Amino acid sequence: MNKAETSVTTNSSVYDVEKIRSDFPILQTKVHGKPLVYLDNAATSQKPVSVIRKAEEYYSKMNSNIHRGVHALSQVSTEAYEGARIKIKKFINALGKNEIIFTRGTTESINLVAQSYGRANFNEGDEVIISEMEHHSNIVPWQMICEEKGAKLKIIPINDNGEIIFEEYEKLINEKTKFVSIVYASNSLGTVNPVKQIIDLAHQYNIPVLVDAAQAVNHLPIDVQDLHCDFLAFSGHKIYGPTGIGVLYGKVNLLDKMPPYQGGGDMISTVTFEKTTYNELPHKFEAGTPNIGGAIGLGEAIDYVQKIGIENIAAHEKELLDYATEAVTEIPSLKIIGTAKDKVSVLSFVLDDIHPHDIGTMLDFEGVAIRTGHHCTQPVMDRFGIPATSRASFAMYNTKEEIDILIKGLKKIIEVFG
Ligand code: PMP
Repeated sequence: MNKAETSVTTNSSVYDVEKIRSDFPILQTKVHGKPLVYLDNAATSQKPVSVIRKAEEYYSKMNSNIHRGVHALSQVSTEAYEGARIKIKKFINALGKNEIIFTRGTTESINLVAQSYGRANFNEGDEVIISEMEHHSNIVPWQMICEEKGAKLKIIPINDNGEIIFEEYEKLINEKTKFVSIVYASNSLGTVNPVKQIIDLAHQYNIPVLVDAAQAVNHLPIDVQDLHCDFLAFSGHKIYGPTGIGVLYGKVNLLDKMPPYQGGGDMISTVTFEKTTYNELPHKFEAGTPNIGGAIGLGEAIDYVQKIGIENIAAHEKELLDYATEAVTEIPSLKIIGTAKDKVSVLSFVLDDIHPHDIGTMLDFEGVAIRTGHHCTQPVMDRFGIPATSRASFAMYNTKEEIDILIKGLKKIIEVFG
């Protein structure tokens, strides 16, 4: 591979994609005898060697339960766990580390807010606003709590490009609205939403806003103070960290007033059979032994991302998305689903009459991993009148050469299907 072709000049440095690739051992894998072309990053990203080593280091040198131990290992693991919290606080520019709650991932973070904030604050006739492009994990938790409380879910529609129709949002919001929960970047369309404007409008009505940043945190710089979001959720595994660990950011004044989500060890201050008092933030929301190794691994992943620079990653991914978007114009039967002006590196498409499942299976024989299906966004599929799409999603380690292999594979499939 020609290095000059795979390096892009960014604002501050030369982006050395080959060097980055060498940090990800799995990229050396062969699939069906072909080099792996991993384009399923929106589902989960691969892990750099530093994150893999950190897991090994944790279990071979630090493993011990946190917070409650006086012995040396417990102190080491507590320090590393709390150290990861501080890294995340800085990464998203939270005001304090007590605003960072470790969860299992975006899904659990959203469920926590729905079950805790929602149960305490929603009443009969109240309304919660989400959009038509939400992932199921930003639909179902709200449906569940709305059903329980007799509240209503209101949906911001999207246009044919897969963009939120802001005027419709303006029409939906009113004094009955009690909460807005919105995806920052869509996993099935790639659309980046104007979350700052969405938040500003909600705040004019004193309505809190949760931002689902599962597909944003790995592509865009995030500053929760600049966004003014009340809650923000993301998953470690989408940002080159381990699975089973995620984050809920919440403003301290809201988190303080919210009841605990789960009961158990570590979230309490005192327990008697008559009465339990709760621990301070963030521990009030971290019942039981958490994913200690996962949190430490996530801290390491964030170090890695910061070393490369999220702006540099974004510039590289934009170049890949532009290249792929242009390249698929060579295939007249291919239609892109999701043509918003502002997108993260997600390319969803349908090919006349060829089922996405067949596309995914045949590409797999070429070593190319993409995702096919509804991508946990069935309402998006309904909006476009399709059952599924094929989705290629690009990460910091992908190259234009890999996109060429994808395009070649697609052309071959079209030939086979005649
Ligand atoms: N929201 C969006 C936009 C997502 O892409 C995903 C994962 N595909 C989720 C939420 C849920 O994330 P997790 O499964 O890691 O909890």
